[in-house]
Amino acid sequence: MTTSWGNIDGKGRTRHQNKGTPMETILTAYSVNPVCCNGCGACAAMAPELFAMDETTEKPVLLLAEAPVDDVERAMAFCPHDCIEAD
Ligand code: SF4
Repeated sequence: MTTSWGNIDGKGRTRHQNKGTPMETILTAYSVNPVCCNGCGACAAMAPELFAMDETTEKPVLLLAEAPVDDVERAMAFCPHDCIEAD
């Protein structure tokens, strides 16, 4: 017996799972202009999932090839010299 929240389409999906399209995370590539960057570390502090500071160069390194647009834009907002770019 199948309830209204059970397997309703024969593919194991429920009515709830079939309702609408799930939210998708939009990814973007991002980069830092090393000439512009003064190594303040704000990006790594505000978005540690995206950046880490290289102790040798004192510049940020990218931790991901692509990241959620919202996270990249948050880091961009905190860069005092607008050195972070979304591709
Ligand atoms: S916030 Fe901007 S200036 Fe500061 S380290 Fe990051 S990229 Fe460089």
